Amino acid sequence: MKLYISSDMEGVAGVTAWQQVDARTPHPEYQIYRRYYTQEVNAAVRGARRSGASDVTINDSHGPMRNFLFEEFPQDVRVIFGNRKPYSMVQDCDASYAGAFFVGYHGAIGDADAVLGHTYTPSVIYEARLNGIVCSEATLNAAVLGYYGVPLLYVTGDRTTVEGVQRQMPWVRGTIVKESIGVFGANTMSPAAAQAAIEKGASEAFAARAEARPFVMEPPIELEVTFAKVEQADFVEMIPGFERIGTRAVRFVNDDMLTIFKAFVAVFRLGMQA
Ligand SMILES: [Zn+2]
Repeated sequence: MKLYISSDMEGVAGVTAWQQVDARTPHPEYQIYRRYYTQEVNAAVRGARRSGASDVTINDSHGPMRNFLFEEFPQDVRVIFGNRKPYSMVQDCDASYAGAFFVGYHGAIGDADAVLGHTYTPSVIYEARLNGIVCSEATLNAAVLGYYGVPLLYVTGDRTTVEGVQRQMPWVRGTIVKESIGVFGANTMSPAAAQAAIEKGASEAFAARAEARPFVMEPPIELEVTFAKVEQADFVEMIPGFERIGTRAVRFVNDDMLTIFKAFVAVFRLGMQA
């Protein structure tokens, strides 16, 4: 029974500041929090294994996407490292997986009380919508899993993140490792408590996988992106198929969720160059 894990770092217990998760200009705290990050993912793997997950693939989906302390993993997992991956946080997911976990996830840009909330690239993306639904990273990524018929089973992060996912996908189980106090504060579990809670939650979520269903976007799928800056919309509007719908907003419509997601990835990467 195959399990796909997409993991991020902002939703790890104790994380409340960019310095704790910034691999590019490493602060001493980064080395500490990448360990907690690895340990939370490992806790999810242990829990899922207790409920029958055999083949586990873990996609490091934070920042440069090579944050794990690799040697801490058991030998029988596969790890997807590196940026830039065309499918980013859901690279190499396919229909062979029985379900997916999002570990250490965070809220959308604009969410109230989301610790370090953003949607992919905060310097580019002010808001993203699919078929009118405001998207977090979890929404977008779950829609790609849904294309493959893979249900999201489990999410961990702060309360805003977990409850936000459950509003859009009520079948998803969650573990809240911290209560957010705005963007840069949290009342958090200890690492040991968070890891124990995740192991238990992951086990229950994988055991209950039959209750979950894929998150499928009904075609035609409409992607609307509002940018941080006008010049980003100027760039993206030039991609064939994109329509300008506002001074800072574009629209792209397609029946195929993979095409929509590729367009979104192209949008935020091109927007970074504007
Ligand atoms: Zn991240």
